[in-house]
Amino acid sequence: MKSKFDRDLLDNLEPYSSEVSVSDGIITRLHANELPWKNEAVVWALHDNLLSMPLNRYPEVSNSDKRKKIAEYIGFEKENVLVGNGSDEIIDTIGKAFISSLDKVLIPSPTFSLYSSIARVYSGIPIILPLNNDYTLPVEKIISEAKSAKMTVICSPNNPTGVSYPDEEIEAILDTGILVILDEAYAEFSGHSGLSLLNHYDNLIVMKTFSKAFGLAGFRTGYCVASETLIESMSKVILPYNLNLISMKVVEMAIQHEDFMKDAVKKIIENRKYLFGAMQEIKWISPIQSSANFILFEAENPKLIYEELLKKGIMIRYFEGKNYLRVSVGTYEECVKFISNLREILNVC
Ligand code: PMP
Repeated sequence: MKSKFDRDLLDNLEPYSSEVSVSDGIITRLHANELPWKNEAVVWALHDNLLSMPLNRYPEVSNSDKRKKIAEYIGFEKENVLVGNGSDEIIDTIGKAFISSLDKVLIPSPTFSLYSSIARVYSGIPIILPLNNDYTLPVEKIISEAKSAKMTVICSPNNPTGVSYPDEEIEAILDTGILVILDEAYAEFSGHSGLSLLNHYDNLIVMKTFSKAFGLAGFRTGYCVASETLIESMSKVILPYNLNLISMKVVEMAIQHEDFMKDAVKKIIENRKYLFGAMQEIKWISPIQSSANFILFEAENPKLIYEELLKKGIMIRYFEGKNYLRVSVGTYEECVKFISNLREILNVC
């Protein structure tokens, strides 16, 4: 449906959808790359703080205190950090600050769909550069296209492939001088971060989130780290009071209770190992080695697998028209449930 007030560019956009809305308990949620465990320590700390929070007052406009806490946590200055209502808001803010009409945005794909929609929203041109056949980064192609482009968005580990890209490849792209957005939403599960590249490059923005490894997707908090100049530019366009008081408190608690994240990552890595091994043994599918909390697998009949799993109460991620599916690494029990149902669907004894 189209309203008579729509900007023309809306013709090419769809509302963001993370599949059917389903809640815990009714279905096994293995479609949204969430952590299967709730960060109880944060919830209790929040509970204790809630009564004393001045909810009748606006929060601090520049989130200065929280930026400082995050900056200390990652070893940077607060002037290098900007917080957002999820890293989704950071992606939007990057678009608002840096994409002018007809600017080209290089997007190695498949990847997170929001990058190209945001490029379009700000009247930029998303240039889709297919990943290599083994899902590695088409570095040479990016470098050659960089001459005429404004920025590139690189997700590492990449959603949906789970493949991480080496720092040397990111550096080679940074050397072109183009603005590089490095989305590290899943980096904790890979044991590596490109944050140290910021010590050498001022054309880099690294994005992070509390939604994945910290298990706080419901609180919507993310941030980015970059040179003081880039952060200042973004600060000019980000909405004031973008983080509510509760989310701001949650950031503080999440950092204080970092052990929860470390334990969760350890467990997810163990479960990922089990899941990958079990998937490798199923001859009708080909899983791709992942350094994130999900696994992409190629299959001849993805739609059928997706629909049959759903009938059995398991939701994974289906991509219209693609020859692959993505499954999140859940609890060990959820992984076992997924494997046994998948084997049944594919008639594997
Ligand atoms: N980047 C990537 C690669 C993602 O997969 C997601 C969420 N699916 C996000 C960013 C956004 O995360 P959030 O807004 O919850 O921080």
